[in-house]
Amino acid sequence: NSIISSQNNLIFKSKLPDIPLSNHLPLHTYCFEKLPEITDRPCLIVASTGKIYTYGEAHLLSRKIAAGMSKLGIQKGDVIMILLQNSAEFVLSFIAASMIGAVATTANPFYTAAELFKQLTVCKTKLIITQAMYVDKLKQNEENGEFDFKIITVDEPPVNCLHFSVISEGNEEELLEVEIDPEDAVALPFSSGTTGLPKGVILTHKSLTTSVAQQVDGENPNLYLTTEDVLLCVLPLFHIFSLNSVLLCALRAGSAVLLMHKFEIGTLLDVIQKHRVTVAMVVPPLVLALAKNPSVAEFDLSSIRLVLSGAAPLGKELEEALHNRIPQAVLGQGYGMTEAGPVLSMSLSFAKQPLPTKSGSCGTVVRNAELKVLDPETGHSLGYNQPGEICIRGQQIMKGYLNDENATKTTIDEEGWLHTGDVGYIDDDDEIFIVDRVKELIKFKGFQVPPAELEGLLVSHPSIADAAVVPQKDVAAGEVPVAFVVRSNGFDLTEEAVKEFISKQVVFYKRLHKVYFIHAIPKSPAGKILRKDLRAKLENATQTI
Ligand code: AMP
Repeated sequence: NSIISSQNNLIFKSKLPDIPLSNHLPLHTYCFEKLPEITDRPCLIVASTGKIYTYGEAHLLSRKIAAGMSKLGIQKGDVIMILLQNSAEFVLSFIAASMIGAVATTANPFYTAAELFKQLTVCKTKLIITQAMYVDKLKQNEENGEFDFKIITVDEPPVNCLHFSVISEGNEEELLEVEIDPEDAVALPFSSGTTGLPKGVILTHKSLTTSVAQQVDGENPNLYLTTEDVLLCVLPLFHIFSLNSVLLCALRAGSAVLLMHKFEIGTLLDVIQKHRVTVAMVVPPLVLALAKNPSVAEFDLSSIRLVLSGAAPLGKELEEALHNRIPQAVLGQGYGMTEAGPVLSMSLSFAKQPLPTKSGSCGTVVRNAELKVLDPETGHSLGYNQPGEICIRGQQIMKGYLNDENATKTTIDEEGWLHTGDVGYIDDDDEIFIVDRVKELIKFKGFQVPPAELEGLLVSHPSIADAAVVPQKDVAAGEVPVAFVVRSNGFDLTEEAVKEFISKQVVFYKRLHKVYFIHAIPKSPAGKILRKDLRAKLENATQTI
């Protein structure tokens, strides 16, 4: 077993030995370190067009874009926003930003103008790379705020926007080397963490090179990938799971990445068959589709050797159903959190010398990291088989939240432990099982729904005096947001009106599925919403609330 006792802490380590890390390198250098050996190997395959970029081409194009960005005035430390569906332009712009020491913030292209406004305000973005159809939302913000950003579109640019060729045709020979410190930020995804509104998560070159190394480097990596592998990239790259565990891990290993810009089951099956996908990173709703959709039987999925599910809990039944459909594939889970870089643990059945993993487990903690399980009552760390809050420490975790020292301090303690807000236990075989969440977060199909955001919108309604949003279990989505609402005195407000008020302002997965009207929101003496009580209300008697 891999538990050690240190300074009154019981600490869990990986069953695999630690490895030497190359985390002094900038992210792009680290990812393309083996370039000379794999220049002609496929790097990116665009599913919709069949276009292939070799490693040599992808690297050269990234350098051109980097030079182009510099010429536009983007400097080290500047934030650029990538607001794109999965595409070659997404990948190349991300690498290019790393090359000039810029920071890429990623956002869901389906966000409403108001949701984008919040992220743009915090990030002070200098450049946005997007598609023409999203420009209207950005323009609305330009009028509202004091923004000063350029917009580049990868397709026909609307008025006052530039075309992608402005940067992609940059002169790579003019690209100046910038000095990058491993502690410099490179990615800025947004996450609400354990509480409150979405915040910018500062991931440094060191965080990401460490996290990727923890997954794919060394003699017996947790995730064994080769230059022959083709990885399915259908999960959105704006989420760190796809960006890190699919894209960056594939680049480091020299595998090919099959980019799909949206999920549609027929097309997905078709491209898996056509491009002989070997590794599929998925989320539980996708497992559901693969396990249950009748059209799966019409396709040859025999090339798939690994299926890794993450971002939300995967039930045993679903795992078994998928196993029946794709019997040759090894199935397992990864457990991640944006702030943790993101991977905390991974099934060892993906290793080069695989170890069996139990169904329902999230694998064991990654190498070069420490994990502990904290008793929420006593603050002591717990041993085997005792559930508590999972905490992680290592060089892969975020540097902190952007401009939010308080939130950073409540998430990363003085000893460097990142508190996840997830409740889990480690069994006798060092396997991690997540059983609950003590944080506010709701996850709809793996997407984040921060209750505080919806609560803020609800109380901005003139007829709403108070509100709380909690998760309700749902077979297809995992969880859906439902609201408890206190009407202002004398106001007549219907459930439909509340739902509509919210759905106009948020991306589709944050929409309310149910609204319950109550007299008062249960709160602690300190004024904190007693979410547990509301969740219990939902579980007990929905009809009598
Ligand atoms: P995000 O930052 O969007 O990746 O969300 C992180 C949260 O998703 C974690 O803190 C967990 O609550 C949940 N999560 C991620 N992976 C898993 C998993 N394999 N099983 C259960 N919950 C998960």
